[in-house]
Amino acid sequence: MIDYSLLKRLPKVDLHCHLSGSLRPVTIMELALEEGLELPKEALEEFVKRVQASEDCQSLKDYLTKFHLPLKVMQRQKNLYRVTYELLEDLWEENVKYVEIRLAPYLHMEKGLNFHQIVKSVLDAMEKGKKDLGIYSNLILICMRNHSPEVSLKLVKEGAKYVGKGVVAIDLAGNEDDFPPELHKEAFQRAGRLGLRKTVHAGETGIVENIVTAIEELGAERIGHGVYAYLKEEVCQILRDRAIPLEMCITSNVQTEAVEGYEAHPIKRYLEEGIKVTINTDNRTVSNTSLEQEYRKAIEFLDFDYGDLIQVIQNGIEFSFADEGDKERLRKIIKAELEALNLK
Ligand SMILES: [Zn+2]
Repeated sequence: MIDYSLLKRLPKVDLHCHLSGSLRPVTIMELALEEGLELPKEALEEFVKRVQASEDCQSLKDYLTKFHLPLKVMQRQKNLYRVTYELLEDLWEENVKYVEIRLAPYLHMEKGLNFHQIVKSVLDAMEKGKKDLGIYSNLILICMRNHSPEVSLKLVKEGAKYVGKGVVAIDLAGNEDDFPPELHKEAFQRAGRLGLRKTVHAGETGIVENIVTAIEELGAERIGHGVYAYLKEEVCQILRDRAIPLEMCITSNVQTEAVEGYEAHPIKRYLEEGIKVTINTDNRTVSNTSLEQEYRKAIEFLDFDYGDLIQVIQNGIEFSFADEGDKERLRKIIKAELEALNLK
């Protein structure tokens, strides 16, 4: 029997969490007013619909429109610091021990911030989160698919200055239908040489080949989502043979219609077939979710038990981009908490 009340207390790991999709709605509203953005007068519940994917979300492109307003209020250092710290507080509430936050720096330059100011604001908040809340975190910098390859190269060059200082990896995200991963191949190859780890959103919208391209040409060590791997057995084989984990986000995958419904999500099948899977939130606000809720859905709709969840949590640590020292500390913390919970 699963005791759902224990889910909140499980020690958790989130490897796929977009900062811009995880702002508290009330903070977005407050900052929007502060910034003098034109907002129709409406109650908070109405406002929330602007920043949250609804039941009738049709696609990834539709889902991505929910980021417009949050991005508008993430153009100042103090705001970036605030929303990062608030995210860490929210994660702490549900006992997340380690998170990799991701951010696309070039989407935060509308008011003149430079790369350094943006990254530093987020890293400063992450450092405070570790000091005050005990949450370990690292930052992943996102190259946007629709930006030019030169912008991605610039990101890698600037981002590499923060290797060993809180930035661990780069990612490729955005509209997968219209911008294939190979456009950004050069940036990803250079990232590898500069000590940045690599994850790539791929196979989220039905183009299974993107998973292979991400691995073979961009050198992806992890795949964001990878929902459609099942379309080709040889792709599953590559993921298994090379132990390339999938960062899966169940609710988000339903909302973007990557899967038809919760029961249709392939995560359990992948787990059983030996593919390394992790469960993540993607966007806590846009998807209106939390890790606790993602674990709950895995149990309710996909027949997960505690053993499966513990496996997923351990995968999260083993395949994280944390350094070996942090991984060892996290293994110990998680082991002790799991033992204390005495799950049956
Ligand atoms: Zn994502």
